[in-house]
Amino acid sequence: MPASKAETRVERLLTFEEARACVGSQAELLCKQPRQQEQAPLLGALGRTLAEQVVADRDFPPFPRATRDGFAVRTEDLQKIPFELKVVGQIRAGGDLPEGFTRLNKGQAVSIMTGAPVPSGADAVVMVEHTQRHGDLVRSLRSAVAGENVVPRGSEARAGAVLIDRGTRIAHSHIALAAAVGKSKLNLYRRPRIAILPTGDEIVSVDSRPADNQIRNSNSFSLAAQVIAAGAEPIQLPIAPDEPQRLRELIGQGLETDLLLLSGGVSAGEYDLVEDALSDFSAEFLFTGVQIQPGKPLVFGRAHTRRGSSEWTYFFGLPGNPISTMVTFELFASILVRALSGSSSQSGLHGTKARLGNQVRVKTGLTRFLPARSSGNWDDPEVETVKWQGSADLSAFARANCLLVIPPDREHFSPGEWMTVLPLQS
Ligand code: AMP
Ligand code: MG
Repeated sequence: MPASKAETRVERLLTFEEARACVGSQAELLCKQPRQQEQAPLLGALGRTLAEQVVADRDFPPFPRATRDGFAVRTEDLQKIPFELKVVGQIRAGGDLPEGFTRLNKGQAVSIMTGAPVPSGADAVVMVEHTQRHGDLVRSLRSAVAGENVVPRGSEARAGAVLIDRGTRIAHSHIALAAAVGKSKLNLYRRPRIAILPTGDEIVSVDSRPADNQIRNSNSFSLAAQVIAAGAEPIQLPIAPDEPQRLRELIGQGLETDLLLLSGGVSAGEYDLVEDALSDFSAEFLFTGVQIQPGKPLVFGRAHTRRGSSEWTYFFGLPGNPISTMVTFELFASILVRALSGSSSQSGLHGTKARLGNQVRVKTGLTRFLPARSSGNWDDPEVETVKWQGSADLSAFARANCLLVIPPDREHFSPGEWMTVLPLQS
């Protein structure tokens, strides 16, 4: 009889930091690989990765821009306070210069609107609120310094300057910038295709009426949603039963994509066949567990795409419990998804600090990511753990808006302590 998995399994249990570093170093290798590009309309670029450099097509701003409604003046005329100048016309944003006007001369002012070009000769704008108008004269008790309320031409960017670099994940601010330089299309890296393979005899499709001992397949959907949010394309594979033949077949299909995410079947139970099935693809296990909660039985490695092939595909064996699945995706799998999408920034985790609102008691040894709600003022946020029944409690997780990070070396945390929280996408 062949040795059972329990006998042959080689455990590689890492700390949270070690496991992040392990995934990070594989991500760095992936970043160096060439990847395909495609053009997409500007709005379709949101959340995806830029494959070109976006450059300024002209100086920004293209003219010295008034930042206030008021009067364009020559500051050398303002030596004596109060000053009085002759208003020789008006310049509106998008409007023309007054007829016959070329430059502002000594003793003159021009009425000017926010966003309009400051005319040559003028070197400051005095805010309208600080002036009094009497016919074609303007008077003010306040002086102004050169450059006041004027953004010089080219001071934001010179024509030809790189504004957005290759490898940037496109946010709304980049969409605005690309629009400003006239890019209605962008070159993007092709979205990586991420296979999602749910496993388990008890798992049934969302459309079915489950028997008492069955569970609907929620993991395929949470993972697909997370994959989409990460800028990639989910491929939802059929549910694999706890049966080696079919499991192997579906794993084979999954390894044909850019990354395989399996859910369930990795916790060393008698029917947890995933690791065995992966071994058939000469899988190399980089780790088989992480000292975290939820998500301890997380498996990460790479396997040959096909028997005899020299190509590798990375895989994650995510624990099946729905909260563990979602949390381990965010903490680990998202790093690879970003790398596969060509993104040059890898971390993806942006912790913030919040004051603890309730007492927390835990055992030491695991870094914990507890479902929690942060609330209170934006400048003095408070975080409270959400009551939950463990890592299958989807309804508790849906009430959470962040993960409270509990370090592994302390048992007791008191109200008022500043803690790290990881916001969950909303
Ligand atoms: P496993 O890791 O296979 O032992 O599964 C752990 C727990 O997660 C079990 O209670 C499973 O029923 C549940 N589970 C596994 N896969 C899914 C899934 N696709 N959707 C929802 N729950 C799941
Ligand atoms: Mg299972």
